[in-house]
Amino acid sequence: MDWKVPLADLNYDVEEEQAALAVLRSRWLTLGAVTQRFEQEFGRVVGSKHALAVSNATVALHLACRAVGLGPGDEVIAPSLSFVATTNAALYTGASVRFADIRGADDLTLAPQAIEAQITPRTRAIIVMHYGGYPCQMVEIMQIARRHGLAVIEDAAHAPGAWLNDPLGGAARHLGTWGDVGCFSFFSNKNLSTGEGGMLVTDRDDIAAQVRLMRSHGMTSLTWDRHQGHAYSYDVVELGYNYRIDEIHSALGLVQLEKLSAGNARRAAISRRYWQSLHDLSLGPRPLGLPFSHYADPAHVSASAAYHIFPILLPAALDRLAFIDRMRAEQIQTSIHYPPIHQFTYYRQRYPDVMLPFTEDIAAREVTLPLYPTMTDEQVSWVIEAVRRSLAG
Ligand SMILES: *Cc1c(COP(=O)(O)O)cnc(C)c1O
Repeated sequence: MDWKVPLADLNYDVEEEQAALAVLRSRWLTLGAVTQRFEQEFGRVVGSKHALAVSNATVALHLACRAVGLGPGDEVIAPSLSFVATTNAALYTGASVRFADIRGADDLTLAPQAIEAQITPRTRAIIVMHYGGYPCQMVEIMQIARRHGLAVIEDAAHAPGAWLNDPLGGAARHLGTWGDVGCFSFFSNKNLSTGEGGMLVTDRDDIAAQVRLMRSHGMTSLTWDRHQGHAYSYDVVELGYNYRIDEIHSALGLVQLEKLSAGNARRAAISRRYWQSLHDLSLGPRPLGLPFSHYADPAHVSASAAYHIFPILLPAALDRLAFIDRMRAEQIQTSIHYPPIHQFTYYRQRYPDVMLPFTEDIAAREVTLPLYPTMTDEQVSWVIEAVRRSLAG
């Protein structure tokens, strides 16, 4: 399909090509000096003590779940309005998931009181997901976690470069650094893309040490250490995995990290234009929902989002597939974020009694519009006009 406006697009140019070529010519392809630099730079940007690069965000989440000690008999509270990796990662450890509902149509992140309502004596952790790169209510969520002695894992796949003010007077802190562990994705369509790739960040030395071991088979020394003459053999002290990243992906990540803040700023500008141009449709008897539109005026929020995706909520009676087809006829690609996890066959069989009124209503009406840094003003106009025509039928 030849889209006039695709849902997402890379902002790659000759810099990424040169970075990849430099790795090929260096003749060292996996976990080495380039990865170390990527980890240092990423940790510096988000302000975390430790940053560990891995193969993707799904394995970062798995390592996070293992590092906070999850296992059979434990329960984890998580959103259903997310990508399935968020909760799969917890299930890999043998733990069980309890789904919590979101705040509502203006904010699609977890509701703190819904989290608290799911706590049982077996609860060990909360996994939050910063939907679209907009922050969850981290101050309230961290208070709940502390009160009940729970670990907090942030699925920050949408949120590199986003931050949230600390209303208690502390400095603004990046998303991914509020809880015990934060996990980022560098999949092709994410704000920072390397094709496949991920990063786990933490301020906790114990978690960092364990993750460092587990991402490479629980081995006490690596091929890289031996290549450098630092070690001759190794022991295996943990049940680990091969969750390593390679140098080509890390090199792409370093270039992409340089582009992150300009890319996020362009995403913010496009989002503001969408909100302003679609505002009139959000009034009246059959309103179009515009989640997170309070971000249109930066003075109204104490955070800076990453603007990963642009969700709209169709009026309840409108046929979503017909709307998507009409957009497609205008060569504009849209998507759905997300089919709720608890409604997938595997999860329904495992958790048949989940009821999440906000998640179920909103997920049925959600459509995601194109949003990416290289999108032109003209393309944004096409999308806005196509939305107007497609809503009118
Ligand atoms: C993309 C994504 C993931 C998984 O990331 P991978 O790097 O593809 O494993 C997890 N959670 C959310 C919310 C995502 O959007």
